Amino acid sequence: MIDLSAFSLAGKTVMVTGANTGIGQGIALSIGRAGGRVIGVGRSDMDETAALLAELGAGFVPVKADLGSSTDAQAMFDAAWDTHGPIDGLVNNAGIIKRADAVEFTEADWDAVMDVNLKTMFFLCQSLGRRALAADRGARIVNISSMLSFQGGIRVASYTASKSGVLGITRLLANEWAAKGINVNSIAPGYIETNNTEALRADPDRSASILGRIPAARWGVPSDIGDAAVFLLSRAANYMHGAVIPVDGGWLAR
Ligand code: NAP
Repeated sequence: MIDLSAFSLAGKTVMVTGANTGIGQGIALSIGRAGGRVIGVGRSDMDETAALLAELGAGFVPVKADLGSSTDAQAMFDAAWDTHGPIDGLVNNAGIIKRADAVEFTEADWDAVMDVNLKTMFFLCQSLGRRALAADRGARIVNISSMLSFQGGIRVASYTASKSGVLGITRLLANEWAAKGINVNSIAPGYIETNNTEALRADPDRSASILGRIPAARWGVPSDIGDAAVFLLSRAANYMHGAVIPVDGGWLAR
């Protein structure tokens, strides 16, 4: 008989960046359903996520931070650890995308995306790694990558660079920390219904061509990603290090 407690997050505190909406909100709700407490980090108010988690009877702490600055993000992490107690898991979900032809792509759009998606992601991992190693505690990190960690994409140069980097950093950290009780893994979402893909879904031609290529014949929803994150954050994934799980309706298998 399967021991379902292996998938429980009871007693665990997990920080989720970008928890106010989209995939981050879906991850926060799945963690709440699995019995965990969520520290939601973001620059917008988290009232909707707070209300949904309260309905589930789950613990929630909202923390305001602009993750465009990795220095501010590190200070935020340390303050959250000191104020709310040790953090067992970190889900680096916050991310942005900028679209322009490669020949038109601006340095500002390069830097903005790299700062949030890759630089802050790495330094938040470092913050958790430092605290967990110093306290001799295990920890879990889940970094949200993308189909564009595997594929080139089009008109999204900095996004493709950042998400390819997310997988590299996930593997690097797994190599450094696997023997020290810190599991670092990634989830690569396919095409999920969120603000991030609003422009694609609003374009009838792009939308139809994307949908036609997804074997599952539907866009993903945030809970599809949230439930996979619970697995990686739980004891059930004890021996997983440096892995990436595509949650993509079969997109990469095609
Ligand atoms: P979303 O609805 O646009 O959510 C992005 C989240 O990141 C929001 O909470 C946003 O906060 C937060 N964020 C962005 N910049 C921030 C900053 N400087 N400081 C603090 N928070 C910031 O998009 P999503 O689809 O849920 O995306 C979540 C993650 O999944 C991203 O890393 C994205 O690249 C990845 N992803 C999405 C898809 C997809 O199909 N949707 C596919 C593959 C990967 P605000 O609401 O305040 O802007």
